[in-house]
Amino acid sequence: MPAQLSSAVDLIAQLNRGETSSVELTEGCLQTIATQDPNIRAFLSTNADAAIAQAKAIDEKRKAGQSVGKLAGLPIALKDNMCVTGVKTTCASRILENFVPPYDAGVVEKLKAADAVLVGKTNLDEFAMGSSTENSAFQVTRNPWNLEHTVGGSSGGSAAAVAARMVPLSLGSDTGGSIRQPAGFCGVVGMKPTYGRVSRYGLVAYASSLDQIGPFATDVASAALLFEVISGHDRRDSTSVDRPVPASSQTVEQPLTGLRVGIAREHFAEGLDREVEAAIQHSLDVYRSLGAEIVELSLPHSKYAIATYYLIAASEASSNLARFDGVHYGHRAAKFDNLIDMYSASRGEGFGPEVKRRIMLGTYALSAGYYDAYYLKALRVRRLIRSDFDAAFKRCDVLASPIASTPAFRLGELVNDPLAMYLSDIYTISANLAGIPGLSLPCGLSSTGLPIGLQLLAAPFEEEKLFRAARMFERATEWHTKRPK
Ligand code: GLN
Repeated sequence: MPAQLSSAVDLIAQLNRGETSSVELTEGCLQTIATQDPNIRAFLSTNADAAIAQAKAIDEKRKAGQSVGKLAGLPIALKDNMCVTGVKTTCASRILENFVPPYDAGVVEKLKAADAVLVGKTNLDEFAMGSSTENSAFQVTRNPWNLEHTVGGSSGGSAAAVAARMVPLSLGSDTGGSIRQPAGFCGVVGMKPTYGRVSRYGLVAYASSLDQIGPFATDVASAALLFEVISGHDRRDSTSVDRPVPASSQTVEQPLTGLRVGIAREHFAEGLDREVEAAIQHSLDVYRSLGAEIVELSLPHSKYAIATYYLIAASEASSNLARFDGVHYGHRAAKFDNLIDMYSASRGEGFGPEVKRRIMLGTYALSAGYYDAYYLKALRVRRLIRSDFDAAFKRCDVLASPIASTPAFRLGELVNDPLAMYLSDIYTISANLAGIPGLSLPCGLSSTGLPIGLQLLAAPFEEEKLFRAARMFERATEWHTKRPK
């Protein structure tokens, strides 16, 4: 089997045994990108020379018997909303088209300390606003399983890059499902940690009370390893939590005894695709066969999740994106009459339609006279949604649900209907509102050959349990071994 097709965990073993080198792996990835990416378009940029140089240095370190990091020599891709010193960070927006950050994000520092090799930056919906990666100002990413279908979003480039084995690992950000949903659509593992677990220093903010960075990988154990590397306290992110990071990569192979898998009746309501429902029911059978107890419960406020999320996310976005004014950062219009005109021309030219829609929605929701009716009310409902989960996790260890009501939809199918696109986030956004960890893993294929994802959620800071429960399922099934042609 070509090294390229192995999981990150297997690749590390191969590197340690001297069966391959980081240079060989990195060149292999760059070669796959060169052949596959013209069709898929997952990458916004690659840094081949720097990557090879980094790989060489790590190979030498290993050869010299020096101690190396946990990801030593492994190629990785980053969603293009994370800052890397000297590397363009565009957020797939015209307004940041030429932004080159002078510093590394917290997660990038950790990846470098772990000796990972940064090969490139991946496509996303502009400023991570979207569910299909079609809102990128630069290109549309296509699903490796079927080029006529979307990859999901907003971290679609990172999901596709792993699905097409262009890299073994990548990072995405998840504000309302942007790691888990594209992972589901692309047949890979994607995980959103507990809010506060991973530093967001150097992540371009979309909605700060919801944003979280997390891993993509081909399998659960590799995702657990990457999660472990990027987690931990960072005083530069005031929401970062100072708690010990679980050794998930060590414990992931230990099955959980007496596992209780919760299912919420609201998650199996109308609108759920029959094949998706069948795959989830089959997944529950797998858990039963492993000795788990299935617990039926209710999340009564989940019907308000979409409205709550889109009010809070847009409100925070309108505030966060105020900094892109043609003065501090990014694009400035060439022609203007006065200062106000310069702001509006720069922002008018720099932002795409979905970003403008969110800024207007959020500005409206926050304005005097509407604040109590919309924003404040949304915060109160958010608390109720969190309370539903608190109650649920008294009765179960993990909650299982679909990741989306259908497999990957077609390119162009929803992009001109913003409300339909927002509604497609129904299964993922509650976890962000509640701040809890969630994971998506492959659990089936549709009759048309598209991946179906199983979502597992856990109580805050129970990532270790989440990975172990996911690995039990993965071990008992073959879905993670299926690959796009
Ligand atoms: N689809 C959601 C949105 O558009 C979530 C995006 C995300 O998680 N970044 O806001």
